[in-house]
Amino acid sequence: MTSQLIDPFDRTIDYLRLSVTDRCDLRCFYCLPKGFKDFEEPEDWLTFDEIERVIRAFGALGTRRIRITGGEPLVRKNLPELATRLHNLPGIEDLSLSTNAVKLARHAEALHTSGVRRLNISLDSLDHDNFQKITGGKLEKVLAGLMAAKAAGFTPIKINMVVMKGINEHEVEAMVDFCIEHDFTLRFIETMPMGDTGRDAVDHYVDLQTVRAKLEQRFEMIPSVMPGGGPARYMQIAGTDLRIGFITPISQHFCETCNRVRLSVDGTLYLCLGQDNKFELRPLLRDGISDDGLQDAIRHAITLKPERHEFNEQPNQIVRFMSVTGG
Ligand code: SAM
Repeated sequence: MTSQLIDPFDRTIDYLRLSVTDRCDLRCFYCLPKGFKDFEEPEDWLTFDEIERVIRAFGALGTRRIRITGGEPLVRKNLPELATRLHNLPGIEDLSLSTNAVKLARHAEALHTSGVRRLNISLDSLDHDNFQKITGGKLEKVLAGLMAAKAAGFTPIKINMVVMKGINEHEVEAMVDFCIEHDFTLRFIETMPMGDTGRDAVDHYVDLQTVRAKLEQRFEMIPSVMPGGGPARYMQIAGTDLRIGFITPISQHFCETCNRVRLSVDGTLYLCLGQDNKFELRPLLRDGISDDGLQDAIRHAITLKPERHEFNEQPNQIVRFMSVTGG
């Protein structure tokens, strides 16, 4: 079935990012402020039953892909149980997870068994001290998580690196070598002005065209594609299996091909990463809405999707941190 969710700009919406918590066990300086405590209260979190109902409704409306994200999704207890439930829903063909991998070593096998196949793992540095400075966490745990994911059979494993001037730009080539060695896919991401943290980090903004130009001096790069429905533009390094994706929301936005919406842990459906347009599903779920009513509500919400973000024109607009919607 093709998606019944068509937005006002004729884009088909068939992809949902599902945040299962706004909490995180890292404090990447460009994402969540140190000491931040203003998290959603547990009574406001959608329960697994509520999440399953919403995803079932999206599946019935033609959504095929679900990416579980956060905060840090592995902070939510019993995540593999939720993943199993979502994997078994009619229509859901592709279940993937974004994680910082801190807790992945412990959960990789159970997640693979649950039906998650594709992983995106944040990794901004391969240097222990630099990793600690950027994230407040320990690189060893992430590397252990990555190796456990490889052993469990996830494919592809995509490494997401936010490239920042004066912070980790000098590590780009080391990350390329690391991903060639381990058969990971690599994606570079531009910093976005989300929340005060994201806006402060814009001082470290790097236009990814410059990263690409520099890599082209060392490698022959040929245009490539990668399944997954995301916005990255891929290049392959000739003579290797490495594909590198460039995610450029600032230097070259890709809103005209946007196919997604985002559900936060409190049941708010965000229609755009870079706008405030949203629709609250939790009150409807807790007031006993019928399955048909829920589908109608989702159809209505999609009519609220804006044409594009305005990170460049209105950089102060988005107050929420990236950890609310999970990227
Ligand atoms: N914890 C999970 C993870 O690490 O993938 C999922 C949530 S995390 C918020 C998703 C991605 O957003 C990470 O790759 C992170 O680096 C990125 N991110 C957070 N704030 C950002 C910002 N202001 N600009 C660009 N990327 C950002």
